[in-house]
Amino acid sequence: MSRRPVIAGNWKMHNLQQEAADLTNGIMQELRAEDKAALPEVVIAPTFTALYAANKALKDCGCGKVRLAAQNCYFETKGAFTGECSVEMLKDAGCEYIIIGHSERREYFGETDEMVNKKAVKILAEGLVPIICCGESLEQREAGVTDYHIASQITKALRGISAADVAKSIIAYEPIWAIGTGKTCDSVEANRVISMIRNVVKGLYDANTADAIRILYGGSVKPATIKEQMAQSDIDGALVGGASLTADSFAQIVKGAM
Ligand code: PEP
Repeated sequence: MSRRPVIAGNWKMHNLQQEAADLTNGIMQELRAEDKAALPEVVIAPTFTALYAANKALKDCGCGKVRLAAQNCYFETKGAFTGECSVEMLKDAGCEYIIIGHSERREYFGETDEMVNKKAVKILAEGLVPIICCGESLEQREAGVTDYHIASQITKALRGISAADVAKSIIAYEPIWAIGTGKTCDSVEANRVISMIRNVVKGLYDANTADAIRILYGGSVKPATIKEQMAQSDIDGALVGGASLTADSFAQIVKGAM
């Protein structure tokens, strides 16, 4: 089974509206000469307040080479949930993907595996694609519980979701100690963990579902690292933080995944 690569840029809490429009336009400019069919799925995830500006830039360009994601959502449809944004609202704002369970949300905002599961269920029910993040801390890695921890995160995140919906979903393996640190996980090791995740999906579902789901690596991905990462058997792309904040480095990563 050949899986289409995905390169997703997580802008985190960066970029005012004009900056988001400029970065979106810059990325599209960098990708202008590339054949759309040869590109990976290219996704950008601005913060909520910049979604409109980024979406407008994407629509004005009309090249269809870049798609929009949100960095978080709430699992309820509407109501008295001050400060939250529903999946419907994000879809209305042009999002096709939503990142959930990022380690920063788990650490600073108390996002639990159960919340990640509810969000994934809601995102899929609305026809969007969840990008489900998982990953171990340095302490967990040193204690030798990486695989156990990640298998548990994935099993809980996918609870109650059909095989067909899992096949459409995206998982991002992001060792916490590699996020924003400049310390990339060794590609062979990242591939080993990602194969383990694929095996977990196979155990929960079947071989076809495990073959179909895209599993990305995230953690200090840079233009210099992407080729080696993409050469691994099970790494289907990257979730990129810092290096997605300039058009040139993000486009180099996209091109490195072609
Ligand atoms: C991330 O936040 O998802 C991430 C991988 O960040 P960075 O690329 O900066 O490590």
